[in-house]
Amino acid sequence: MGAQSMEQYPPVLRKAVEFHGHICPGLLIGYRAAQAAQSFLGADRAEDEDLVAVVENDACSVDAFQVLLGCTFGKGNLIYRDYGKQVYTVFDRAANKAVRVSLKSDVLERPPEMEPLFEKARKNEASAEELKILDGYREKTMERLLDMDTDALFKIEEVPPDVPEKARIFKSVTCHFCGEKVMEPRARVRDGKVACIPCSEVYTRGW
Ligand SMILES: [Zn+2]
Ligand SMILES: [Zn+2]
Repeated sequence: MGAQSMEQYPPVLRKAVEFHGHICPGLLIGYRAAQAAQSFLGADRAEDEDLVAVVENDACSVDAFQVLLGCTFGKGNLIYRDYGKQVYTVFDRAANKAVRVSLKSDVLERPPEMEPLFEKARKNEASAEELKILDGYREKTMERLLDMDTDALFKIEEVPPDVPEKARIFKSVTCHFCGEKVMEPRARVRDGKVACIPCSEVYTRGW
């Protein structure tokens, strides 16, 4: 999407693009999801610290949540669950209400005839011509993500307003391998010794 169309975007989307560094389908999903949550909760106060977002991926979309809802890691009202899903749950502590927004599975479904092209691009084997086709497809996807009805994009459901507990203070243990402190629930065991996650992964990944 060129700079020209950027000017037509609502200011808050421009702000999200600026924060994220580029415009992409992922950011637009986050933008639409954050807006859906906001309107469901009636929470139009952008920097509201009463809002807590639980995000189930750590990709582009999350940046829109930070900008639109003011949910950030630093403030502790952005919680990441490594589930690899396009699912976002937003809690409004003041209203004691929560909403779960999940991307419908058919939204990003690609036409089967495009698959060989995507495969080529993944392997860095696509020609300039083919990359142009993929680019056009991406543009169209972004337009679609902006224009689609919220209900066609997401399943939106009210969920119990049980705000996940903030990280408690845990006892620390020392990693045998790097000597650094790690909180006990995150500690692993490697060769029968206490290990932090990176040190235990060096082992399993064979670095
Ligand atoms: Zn992005
Ligand atoms: Zn370690």
